[in-house]
Amino acid sequence: MAIRAVNYPDYRVARERMVREQVFGKGIVDRRVLKALLQVPRHLFLGHKAGPEAYTDHALPIGFSQTMSQPYMVAYLSEQLALQGDEEVLEIGTGSGYQAAVLATLAKTVYTIERIPELAHRASSVFRELGLKHMFTKTADGACGWPEMAPFDRILLTAAASEVPQNLVIQLRDGGFLLGPVVRDDGGQEIVKLARRGESFTLERLKPCSFVPLVRLDRVPSSSDLNNANI
Ligand code: SAH
Repeated sequence: MAIRAVNYPDYRVARERMVREQVFGKGIVDRRVLKALLQVPRHLFLGHKAGPEAYTDHALPIGFSQTMSQPYMVAYLSEQLALQGDEEVLEIGTGSGYQAAVLATLAKTVYTIERIPELAHRASSVFRELGLKHMFTKTADGACGWPEMAPFDRILLTAAASEVPQNLVIQLRDGGFLLGPVVRDDGGQEIVKLARRGESFTLERLKPCSFVPLVRLDRVPSSSDLNNANI
């Protein structure tokens, strides 16, 4: 998906350096992912006053005690999603919108859910400004997924859950998978991949990580939660 040029400083040089040193330099080799990170103007997702600090090797504050992930982590998750361009992807935790915009250049359609309305609105306006189409945003508890739009080929969690929400798992297309951080019993976090084949699921543990928590809005356990508490 093409990205519209904008009338602000572009920071292309800072972006090229970010990709060379922090992304390719740390082992991300998927050409489509590298191209996406070269294209998407990360600084715009921090507001119009943001400058080259957007391209440093850090997670960055976006207000409301939330953060935009480090460039390497955005690239790593994007590479692990193994997108070919024809997928429907659901992201939980829009935050700044940067990860969703990267996904929009890699997949057919991106649905992204954020629980904080101000962040969701801010991200949507940057998507519009960049001319990103086939992107849909809503303010809600992402742990419920987006049943009206399911099934999804990929579901990306970008906030850490203590267990993978059952509502999300059932919205995966057969052959699809969910990727994202979960909290381990020792309190640490790790990226897991939960793949669906028919009615069976396989869980792969990928690497340690550190994300803000997935916050449940109206946590009333459903009967299916109680029956499937340890997925
Ligand atoms: N993907 C983001 C970074 C995510 S930070 C980016 O590229 O900037 C995690 C985000 O998840 C935060 O914005 C937080 O508000 C949101 N979040 C936490 N719990 C949530 C929930 N239950 N539903 C939807 N969003 C949630």
